[in-house]
Amino acid sequence: MKKLKFQGRFRMKITVIYDNEANAGLKSGWGFSCLIETEEKILFDTADDGEKLIYNLRQLNIQPESIRAVVISHNHWDHTGGLNEFLKLNNNAKVFNPKSFSKPTEISTCVHSTGALGTFIKEQSLIVNTKEGNVVITGCAHPGLENIIDRSRELGEIYCVVGGFHGFSKLEELDGIEIIAPCHCTQYKQEIKEKYPAKFREIKAGSIIKI
Ligand SMILES: [Zn+2]
Ligand SMILES: [Zn+2]
Repeated sequence: MKKLKFQGRFRMKITVIYDNEANAGLKSGWGFSCLIETEEKILFDTADDGEKLIYNLRQLNIQPESIRAVVISHNHWDHTGGLNEFLKLNNNAKVFNPKSFSKPTEISTCVHSTGALGTFIKEQSLIVNTKEGNVVITGCAHPGLENIIDRSRELGEIYCVVGGFHGFSKLEELDGIEIIAPCHCTQYKQEIKEKYPAKFREIKAGSIIKI
């Protein structure tokens, strides 16, 4: 597979909109959503509940109408719960469901989907091309974070990985990655923090990662 052609050109900002934990002034619950800003805004997952999702977007000063696309990692309520409410405020946003593709595909110039991975639960993750390397963003990582990492590495070096890691325990797979930011359903967060203290980022709703 060929390397992504835009490697090295982009800056990006990820804002965690919703997570199991939240900074002051934001709502939390079992679910995940984040906003990816490159040359345009992409919402990745929509939390468990539309009202709480929209509340957090407003608190973070993000206009739902300014978002161009919504990517749903997989069809679980804690990632799809806010989609309908969101689309009521922005029915122009293009929605990318995990069923849409089985191969890596372009969402925008510097954002690609890994394509749906996994046998029982089809799940896609995002790969964002940045000036430092690729950033991988996962929902629940049901197909196994190691498999998502393998697929992503076919497209270039991984600089950062963010999102729900679920039961991922092959921690050595994270070697060489500079920023490791697990949240949501990650079961071995403490172990990851102990193994990679300098690279670990504590994130929750309201956290921002700028690259
Ligand atoms: Zn899930
Ligand atoms: Zn989940």
